[in-house]
Amino acid sequence: MIDVPKSFNLAGRKWCVYFLDQDAAEKQYGGHHDDLDASGLSSSRQAELYIVDRDDEAEEYRRITFWHELVHGMLSTLGRHESTHDEVLVDGLAYMLNEFDKTRRGKTNLD
Ligand SMILES: [Zn+2]
Repeated sequence: MIDVPKSFNLAGRKWCVYFLDQDAAEKQYGGHHDDLDASGLSSSRQAELYIVDRDDEAEEYRRITFWHELVHGMLSTLGRHESTHDEVLVDGLAYMLNEFDKTRRGKTNLD
Protein backbone atom coordinates (compact mmCIF):
# COMPACT_ATOMS: atom_id res chain seq x y z
CA MET A 1 0.00 0.00 0.00
CA ILE A 2 1.34 3.42 -0.80
CA ASP A 3 1.50 6.20 1.65
CA VAL A 4 0.75 9.27 -0.42
CA PRO A 5 4.08 11.16 -0.52
CA LYS A 6 4.50 14.83 0.36
CA SER A 7 6.82 15.29 -2.60
CA PHE A 8 8.47 13.37 -5.43
CA ASN A 9 10.44 14.15 -8.57
CA LEU A 10 9.36 13.82 -12.19
CA ALA A 11 12.19 14.23 -14.71
CA GLY A 12 14.24 15.99 -12.05
CA ARG A 13 11.54 18.50 -11.09
CA LYS A 14 10.18 18.44 -7.57
CA TRP A 15 6.39 18.11 -7.21
CA CYS A 16 4.51 18.63 -3.95
CA VAL A 17 1.29 16.98 -2.82
CA TYR A 18 -1.35 18.77 -0.77
CA PHE A 19 -4.63 17.82 0.82
CA LEU A 20 -7.09 20.69 0.46
CA ASP A 21 -10.81 21.15 0.41
CA GLN A 22 -12.29 21.81 -3.02
CA ASP A 23 -13.04 25.53 -2.47
CA ALA A 24 -9.52 26.23 -1.25
CA ALA A 25 -8.03 24.39 -4.21
CA GLU A 26 -10.12 26.25 -6.78
CA LYS A 27 -9.18 29.56 -5.16
CA GLN A 28 -5.51 28.69 -5.02
CA TYR A 29 -5.18 27.37 -8.54
CA GLY A 30 -7.72 29.48 -10.39
CA GLY A 31 -7.55 28.58 -14.07
CA HIS A 32 -3.95 27.45 -13.91
CA HIS A 33 -4.31 23.72 -13.83
CA ASP A 34 -4.26 20.87 -16.29
CA ASP A 35 -7.26 19.09 -14.96
CA LEU A 36 -9.61 19.84 -12.15
CA ASP A 37 -11.18 16.53 -11.27
CA ALA A 38 -13.90 15.91 -8.73
CA SER A 39 -11.37 14.61 -6.24
CA GLY A 40 -8.08 16.20 -7.17
CA LEU A 41 -6.04 18.46 -9.38
CA SER A 42 -2.71 18.41 -11.16
CA SER A 43 -0.84 21.63 -11.90
CA SER A 44 2.23 21.16 -14.07
CA ARG A 45 2.77 24.91 -14.00
CA GLN A 46 3.21 24.84 -10.23
CA ALA A 47 4.39 21.21 -10.03
CA GLU A 48 1.71 20.45 -7.48
CA LEU A 49 -0.95 17.84 -6.96
CA TYR A 50 -3.86 18.26 -4.65
CA ILE A 51 -6.14 15.63 -3.26
CA VAL A 52 -9.54 16.67 -1.96
CA ASP A 53 -9.60 16.13 1.76
CA ARG A 54 -13.02 14.82 2.69
CA ASP A 55 -13.91 12.72 5.66
CA ASP A 56 -16.30 10.60 3.62
CA GLU A 57 -13.61 9.71 1.09
CA ALA A 58 -12.51 6.09 1.38
CA GLU A 59 -8.79 5.48 1.69
CA GLU A 60 -8.84 3.42 -1.50
CA TYR A 61 -10.45 6.25 -3.43
CA ARG A 62 -7.88 8.75 -2.18
CA ARG A 63 -5.11 6.42 -3.28
CA ILE A 64 -6.59 6.10 -6.78
CA THR A 65 -7.00 9.89 -6.89
CA PHE A 66 -3.30 10.24 -6.11
CA TRP A 67 -2.36 7.85 -8.92
CA HIS A 68 -4.77 9.65 -11.26
CA GLU A 69 -3.25 13.06 -10.60
CA LEU A 70 0.26 11.59 -10.81
CA VAL A 71 -0.51 10.23 -14.30
CA HIS A 72 -1.72 13.71 -15.32
CA GLY A 73 1.58 15.11 -14.06
CA MET A 74 3.61 12.45 -15.89
CA LEU A 75 1.82 13.03 -19.19
CA SER A 76 2.25 16.81 -18.85
CA THR A 77 5.91 16.33 -18.07
CA LEU A 78 6.26 14.27 -21.23
CA GLY A 79 4.53 17.03 -23.23
CA ARG A 80 1.61 14.68 -24.02
CA HIS A 81 -1.01 17.37 -23.62
CA GLU A 82 -3.64 15.57 -25.70
CA SER A 83 -3.28 12.45 -23.59
CA THR A 84 -3.36 14.54 -20.42
CA HIS A 85 -6.95 15.46 -21.25
CA ASP A 86 -7.93 11.86 -22.00
CA GLU A 87 -9.60 11.03 -18.69
CA VAL A 88 -10.31 7.43 -19.74
CA LEU A 89 -6.60 6.82 -20.39
CA VAL A 90 -5.56 8.63 -17.20
CA ASP A 91 -8.06 6.72 -15.08
CA GLY A 92 -7.16 3.38 -16.66
CA LEU A 93 -3.49 3.91 -15.85
CA ALA A 94 -4.37 5.12 -12.34
CA TYR A 95 -6.36 1.96 -11.56
CA MET A 96 -3.59 -0.24 -12.95
CA LEU A 97 -0.88 1.56 -10.96
CA ASN A 98 -3.02 1.08 -7.86
CA GLU A 99 -3.49 -2.61 -8.64
CA PHE A 100 0.23 -3.00 -9.34
CA ASP A 101 1.10 -1.39 -6.04
CA LYS A 102 -1.40 -3.47 -4.05
CA THR A 103 -0.40 -6.79 -5.57
CA ARG A 104 3.39 -6.40 -5.77
CA ARG A 105 5.14 -9.13 -3.81
CA GLY A 106 8.74 -9.87 -3.04
CA LYS A 107 11.86 -8.51 -4.63
CA THR A 108 13.71 -9.72 -7.65
CA ASN A 109 17.49 -9.55 -7.52
CA LEU A 110 18.57 -7.98 -10.80
CA ASP A 111 22.32 -8.63 -10.26
ZN1 LIG B 1 -8.27 13.73 -14.44
